[in-house]
Amino acid sequence: MTTNTDDCLFCRIVKGEIPCAKVYEDEYVFAFLDIAPFKEGHTLLILKEHSNTVLDVNPNHMQYVLKAIQKIAPAVMEATHAQGFHVLQNNFAAAGQTVFHTHWHIIPRSEDDTLSLWAQGAYTDNGTMGAMARVISQNIIQ
Ligand code: 5GP
Ligand code: ZN
Repeated sequence: MTTNTDDCLFCRIVKGEIPCAKVYEDEYVFAFLDIAPFKEGHTLLILKEHSNTVLDVNPNHMQYVLKAIQKIAPAVMEATHAQGFHVLQNNFAAAGQTVFHTHWHIIPRSEDDTLSLWAQGAYTDNGTMGAMARVISQNIIQ
């Protein structure tokens, strides 16, 4: 599903209607600094073609996302003296998505930083874990 891009914050940033700190642009993608960064250098990467979540991204355009990550993430690490980075992507409000133009967060990480994204959980036993895997498998539409 694609919404009216006139109402989309990130489409408006691509069009230059709203200012941003741009770091990269090509025919298919656009990348700019997150205004409220998890860490300095936190970059947002989007496809210029509007989609609401990753579920409606044009699969033919995913190669351009990957190519952009492979260019931008090393540059972010270099600029921030990081030793690693996250590529994070939130889908739907329940997962923390606040801007409904699909985007990939590129977040630099250092070995000595103390950020924690989530606490690890656990399955009660292997049977429960196996049952969950079977239910997910059965729900995958081929
Ligand atoms: P989400 O929570 O949807 O995964 O991420 C949306 C991100 O967009 C947030 O991290 C937020 O700080 C960022 N953001 C929201 N509005 C703006 C804006 O106007 N400009 C920029 N550069 N980033 C924004
Ligand atoms: Zn949009």
